[in-house]
Amino acid sequence: MINKILVANRGEIAIRVFKTAKKMGIKTVAVYSTADRHSPHVQMADEAVLIGEAPSSESYLKYDTIIEVAKKLKVDAIHPGYGFLSENALFSQKVADEGIIFIGPKPHAIKTMGDKLAAKEAVKNYNIPMVPGVEEPITDVPKAIEIAKKIGFPILIKAAAGGGGKGMRIVEKESEFINQMERAISEAVSAFGNGEVFIEKYIESPRHIEIQIIADAHGNVVHLFERECSIQRRHQKVVEEAPSSVLTEEIRNKMGEAAINVAKSCDYLGAGTVEFLIDKKMNFYFLEMNTRLQVEHPVTEWITGLDLVEQQIKIAQGEKLSFTQKDMKIKGHAIELRVYAEDSLNDFMPSIGKLTTYQPPVGENIRVDDGFKEGMEIPIYYDPMLSKLITYGKTRKEAIVKMIEAIDNYHVEGIETTLPFGKYVCQHKSFVSGKFDTHFVQDYYTPEVLEKYYKNEASVAAKMALQLYLEEKLEVKLPKVETNAAVKTLFDR
Ligand code: ADP
Repeated sequence: MINKILVANRGEIAIRVFKTAKKMGIKTVAVYSTADRHSPHVQMADEAVLIGEAPSSESYLKYDTIIEVAKKLKVDAIHPGYGFLSENALFSQKVADEGIIFIGPKPHAIKTMGDKLAAKEAVKNYNIPMVPGVEEPITDVPKAIEIAKKIGFPILIKAAAGGGGKGMRIVEKESEFINQMERAISEAVSAFGNGEVFIEKYIESPRHIEIQIIADAHGNVVHLFERECSIQRRHQKVVEEAPSSVLTEEIRNKMGEAAINVAKSCDYLGAGTVEFLIDKKMNFYFLEMNTRLQVEHPVTEWITGLDLVEQQIKIAQGEKLSFTQKDMKIKGHAIELRVYAEDSLNDFMPSIGKLTTYQPPVGENIRVDDGFKEGMEIPIYYDPMLSKLITYGKTRKEAIVKMIEAIDNYHVEGIETTLPFGKYVCQHKSFVSGKFDTHFVQDYYTPEVLEKYYKNEASVAAKMALQLYLEEKLEVKLPKVETNAAVKTLFDR
């Protein structure tokens, strides 16, 4: 039994885990750096221990120190959150060696799936569709160019150890190959300390759709449907939703089955995500597996009614899944906006400073997962995500309208955020119609467009609200809950 959990992380995800732990009657331990002395995650835990200076290499990445704290405070389990040590096989091994439960998969699964080439190798025998490409790192350049020609340009050079959209280079034609490869290698070395790169076909106009899976220690694996994560900047997600507006039941089932097989290929344990790209013809290809709780897990929680952290904890203490695939049903629609401290008008550059005003929205069908309070500084040392804003509706459109309402009621001053960008997305006809891909930002977004849009925003919002209102009127038999309030807010503007 797990009676005490240490969260080897900070900010919103530490708080997220503490909330569930408290609900389950489990004691909580926070660790923190000097930059986070006054952070809400420190205040929320039953016990909190300072582990080092602000740079993560001197605090949140110091696994020996964290394990020492866990031993000293007689912690039963460590939850790694996402980022930092969450996908570090050595850390999970060291935790286990000390007789402490690591809330996540076994080191072998982390290691296999942490390397994109090893992951492709592992799933090879499971009949999973893969992006055409090479199966080992490029060492012989002329041979690699021959392969690239066979696959057909454009191709993508990717880092085997890649993550966070880094170390990825598109090569449009043969003459650019060597130059782009050198850049990809140098980026991979500086970001991951591993310069191995490989080639993949560049899928034109793909959608990024991932499947949440959950596996217990008794051989049961269930998928919890998909999340659409195609709205990205710099190959990193900004808006996610569940379900996707394009999947048919048939493709959803096929992708779900493929994801379960990926999990089986590495003997997976706990909550994990299998990422796919989907091309214009609705062919899907395995991209990679993330062996942790994802940032965007709340949208899945909302449409399934499950608390994924609770599931992680139960699985970690050896419990069987209390549901089967057949029990799982999609209910409603959820959207998440990552509220980054970034300037959408200036190429999404980090916007660090003091939160002179910070008032998140509250209300039914609105969830804010955050780790900041008014008056706090956003530290430069860590990921600039301020919060996650999640909204829910019976339908996709309701969730979108709710998101717009929530953004309008989210007051942040002192720094720039992705809130205006999120609102732009939610009112863009391509997003609203569901016809978009990972090039949304490239295709539709420039700072000038955003500025112009804000001048016209009232009329756009009113038009959209009117459309929804009329559609709702046609659906008189459906129970009316939140939507009318949302529509009213938009009309009142
Ligand atoms: P990372 O591990 O760095 O996040 P991923 O392999 O998960 O990298 O890819 C991140 C994003 O990069 C995808 O969501 C997609 O937008 C783009 N991408 C990756 N591979 C391809 C590909 N073969 N073709 C087109 N886009 C790709």
